Amino acid sequence: MSKYKAEPLSRNDIRRYVRKLKKSVGLDEMLMFPIIEFLENIIPMIIPDFRLEIVPKGEMGINHGETYPSKNLIRIREDVYERAVDGVPRDRLTIAHEIGHLFLHENDVIALCRMEPGETLKAYEDPEWQANCFGGELLASYNLIRGMSEEEVMKSCNVSAQAAHILVSKL
Ligand SMILES: [Zn+2]
Repeated sequence: MSKYKAEPLSRNDIRRYVRKLKKSVGLDEMLMFPIIEFLENIIPMIIPDFRLEIVPKGEMGINHGETYPSKNLIRIREDVYERAVDGVPRDRLTIAHEIGHLFLHENDVIALCRMEPGETLKAYEDPEWQANCFGGELLASYNLIRGMSEEEVMKSCNVSAQAAHILVSKL
């Protein structure tokens, strides 16, 4: 859980947002989401001053990815980026998660507020939950995976077993 609270967004809100986003760039009917193509070629068409930095492992440390929505900047650790290019599901999801922060929290960075002591963060107010939800929906469109088993979702969308489990259980 993050210690910051974001504007509340339900899974349905995020679903609708992601579907609209994918539709606007003609990717709404594609089962296997081209995450690297989206990151490198499509986001710059949507956000002209978007910047992507691939950062050496030694410089980035333990973080796999970081996003600065106010600067339209995503930084991905080099080994994570390379594995995502090779199609490793976990690394594809890391990138999709960072893209979630970029889009969902774009105007929101200052609005993210520190929690009062003892306040419990609801999942839908947690920017990390929101970015995970966005990432899952980006990689696997709910309208295309309806009726599929977890195994089928894993194979056709190239997501991890864990992601497929969550996605199928929320259909
Ligand atoms: Zn995050």
